[in-house]
Formats: sequence, structure tokens, C-alpha cells
Amino acid sequence: MSITTAHDRVNSFVANPRRMFIGGQWTAAVSGKTFATPDPSTGETLAYVAEGDEADIDRAVQAARTAFEQGPWSRMTASDRGRLIWKIGDLILENAEELAQLETRDNGKPYAVALAADVPLAADLFHYMAGWATKIEGNTIDISVPYMPGANFHSYTLREPVGVVGQIIPWNFPLLMAAWKLGPALATGNCVILKPAEQTPLSALRLAELIAEAGFPDGVVNVVPGYGETAGARLAAHPGVDKVAFTGSTEVGRLIVQAAAGNLKKVSLELGGKSPNIVFEDAEPEAVAGAANAIFFNHGQCCVAGSRLFVHHSRFDEVVEGVAEIAKSIKLGPGMDADTQMGPLVSEEQLTRVTGYLDSGRTEGATTVVGGNRHGDRGYFVEPTVITNARNDMKIVREEIFGPVVVAEPFSDLDEIAAQANDTEYGLGAGIWTKDISKAHALAKKIRAGTVWINCYNVFDAALPFGGYKQSGWGREMGHEVLNNYTEVKAVTTQL
Ligand code: NDP
Repeated sequence: MSITTAHDRVNSFVANPRRMFIGGQWTAAVSGKTFATPDPSTGETLAYVAEGDEADIDRAVQAARTAFEQGPWSRMTASDRGRLIWKIGDLILENAEELAQLETRDNGKPYAVALAADVPLAADLFHYMAGWATKIEGNTIDISVPYMPGANFHSYTLREPVGVVGQIIPWNFPLLMAAWKLGPALATGNCVILKPAEQTPLSALRLAELIAEAGFPDGVVNVVPGYGETAGARLAAHPGVDKVAFTGSTEVGRLIVQAAAGNLKKVSLELGGKSPNIVFEDAEPEAVAGAANAIFFNHGQCCVAGSRLFVHHSRFDEVVEGVAEIAKSIKLGPGMDADTQMGPLVSEEQLTRVTGYLDSGRTEGATTVVGGNRHGDRGYFVEPTVITNARNDMKIVREEIFGPVVVAEPFSDLDEIAAQANDTEYGLGAGIWTKDISKAHALAKKIRAGTVWINCYNVFDAALPFGGYKQSGWGREMGHEVLNNYTEVKAVTTQL
């Protein structure tokens, strides 16, 4: 598809209010309401979208329940299910330019990044999970039963779908987060209600069209855009939902857990982070670009952003200056401009939040080496920012900023850095830069986080489990680990 054809398709996609996808039908909200999703590079409305609320979630849960219990989905062979999931991956690649443009215009990220990373990673996730559909296995277990001497048994386990799954996703990687959630839920035979973030509902709605085109039975995937406080909260609390999977802030993660308590639905959470990125005295020069990428990729709107940069004191000035030089050189602009390297933040709310952190850092006495302000007066741009001389009790050190803001601190030895790295309520990711591979592995073991990158950062793959220790979440996304989130284990015993 040429870039112009994709552009025309996106224009026609956003020209009319987008409906929600329930039970295989495109439908308006029961309330008839719509909400606007803005273009973050201008603040102007990009599209109107049906505003799902409690009544729409109820309809979607009903459709998913019917599909799960009565539809052809549960009778489909694992091989056919896998083929359908594979087809989603193919259709994503066939429509890559269009999806990348939609993502860029709704979320703000550079088109080249959406096309090179978000879209192919989403396709790859479906292709990877398609293979798992035929590999969901139980075990045969040799049991002893001491209180029944002489008896013989045949025992085995079945891995079965959890049932109806509610999935709530954020706005930082809208298509990719939809893929991370849908892929494993479908591979294990569940039916899903997906609620995209209010800021970025468009690519999930386009994905639903591709899922319909792939030939999924009605009701297996339902996409209900709307607000967290209404649609999201109903989905998390709904008594007809067997499991909720959430990605977003730790604060809302807690609300999800409370809401899920009503029917004790299963919960998996992928939450915030304040990830340490550690540069040792013997690190290769590439560590400087690596540290910049760790924080500035996706404008710092990454749960795993390397927002706490620890540099050995012998290299501190050099590395901080290097990262600051990169920050200064980054070209900010609308994501659709070919020379843009960093787009706007996703929303006005996010702009206010991030600039609020920048103000608080200044007020509390930290030093802004570069950046520190909003960029321009149109759209939601923030300058890539490097901060030093921060104290450990400052908000900018302790809280997830979710913007292009890194706080750099010097350190002296291995034991000190392990303690500093772990001095956070989060435990999502960490980076280590050193030529000494023994030191790297020794430190990797000490770090309380779900992902550790050595001499690299932001390396993701459908086969690698991803998730958090401590308050960064429950359970893992991707890899075969994620299949546990979406299956129940049944033990079956026969006396022979
Ligand atoms: P949220 O955690 O509020 O949003 C994530 C998703 O949860 C969205 O779909 C949202 O809906 C939904 N949601 C919000 N409230 C509820 C609720 N009560 N019940 C059920 N679902 C709900 O993140 P924000 O967008 O508000 O961002 C705030 C901060 O969260 C960021 O600054 C960042 O620090 C962090 N964050 C972390 C992410 C991560 O991956 N770790 C991702 C996004 C944000 P909707 O937005 O549509 O109203």
C-alpha cells in the first residue's frame, strides 16, 4: 500500500464517528453519546468515537458469554483457531502503513517509529501466539493416594480457557497493547471485551475490522471504547467477566483489584515503573546513546522507561553531557512530518502532569541540565529533559513521570548501586552497561525487576516474558508465561 493510499484510508476512517464492535456488529453507544479523540500535535479533534458505558459493557459481556458457551469458537479445532490468529498478523502487515498512520495521528508518535516498531511487533505477537493455540497441554500425573492402598488411578490435567475476559489498555502503544492482550487470550480459547484508552481508541477499532475480516465468529472479540471511570470500571467489576487483564497506572491497578473482588475474577496487571539504567566505568561509548534511547523512546511514555540513570562517578560528567547533547539534537514535531524524531505527548492532561513534575523538580532544588519546559504553544510537546542533583525523596525520583525526563545520579560501587536501583516501589525493568559480563550477571540477579537488559535497552519480543515485580504488576505478558494468565487447570482422576 502506498503512503498516499494509506493517508486516504485514514482520512475516510476518521471522517465519520466510529462505532463500537459488539457481537460481530458495528453499533452506536446505547446512550447515543460520542467523544472526541484529539490529534495531540495540534489539540484539534481527529475523530469522534462512540462512548461506551455500563450498558454497552453489559451488551458486550453478554455477546462474549454467548460466543464462549454456544458459538462455534469453543468447538473449533486448535489448529483452526491458530490459523485465524495467524491471519490477524497477516492482515496487520498488509495494512501496515494505514495502521501506522492511524497510530501516529491518534497517539502522536513518529510515523517511522509506528511503522518500524508498533505495527510489526503487533503482527509478530499474533503470529507467535497463533503457534501456541495447538500447544496448550496438560500433564499425566502418577498419583500415590496413601489412604487408598492398592488402588490404581489415571490422572491428568487439562488446560482450559478462563472464559470471558475483560481487557483494559493504555494509550502509549495502543495497537501493540491490544495485540499483547488479545493474542494470548484468543490462543487459549477465551472470548474478549477490549476497552482501549479514551485518548487512542482508533487503531483498536481498525484492528476489530481486521479481526472480522479474518473470519472470527461473532462475539469472540468485542471492542468497546469509552472512559475508564464508566466502561472500564464496569468491565473490571462485572459479575459475568471471569478475568480482567489491565495495563496502566499503578493507581488504577489498585482500583481494578478492588473492583475484581466482587466475583473474585482472576486479575493480571502490567503497571508503572521507575526503572534504573546503570552505566559502569567500563561501559562502551554506546551506553550514552543507549541511555538516551532508554528514556526518550516513545517520548518517555513507556512503562519501562529508563528514567533513573545511574552513572559511575568516573564517567558521570561525560555520560550526562552526552545524553544532554542527544536531548538537544532531537527534532520535535508532528509525528507525520518526515524529519520528526519525537512527537507530542498524548494529551493535554499528560502535558500538564509532566510539566508539573518539571516544576516540582526545579522548586525542590534539582538542576535542569537541558530541556525542562513545554515546547511551543500548540500541541502537547515537552522538551527532552536531563536533570541532576536530585535527592532521593523528590517526587521526580520516586514517581513515574511518563515523559521524556531522566534524572541522573552518580554511584561508586556494585553493592551501593544494587541498593539504589532497588530503592523504589516499582520493579519493571533495568539496564546495565558494562564490558564485565560477570559483574553484569551478578547485578542482574540482585535487581528486583521483571526485565534486565545488559548492554541494550527496550528490546522486546513476543517470545520474551514481560512484567513486573513489586508494585509493577501481577503476572507476565508474552512468551509462554502469559498463557498461564488465560487458562484454568483442571485435574481429572479415574480409578482403574
Ligand atoms: P490509567 O491507568 O488511568 O489508564 C489506563 C487504562 O485504564 C485506560 O484505558 C483508562 O481508561 C482505564 N481506566 C482508568 N480508570 C479506570 C477505572 N477506574 N477502572 C477501570 N479502568 C480504568 O492511565 P492514564 O491514562 O490516566 O495515565 C496516567 C498515568 O498512568 C501516566 O502518567 C503514567 O504514569 C501511568 N501510565 C502507565 C502506563 C503503563 O504502561 N505502565 C500506561 C499508561 C499510563 P481511559 O483512559 O480510557 O479513561
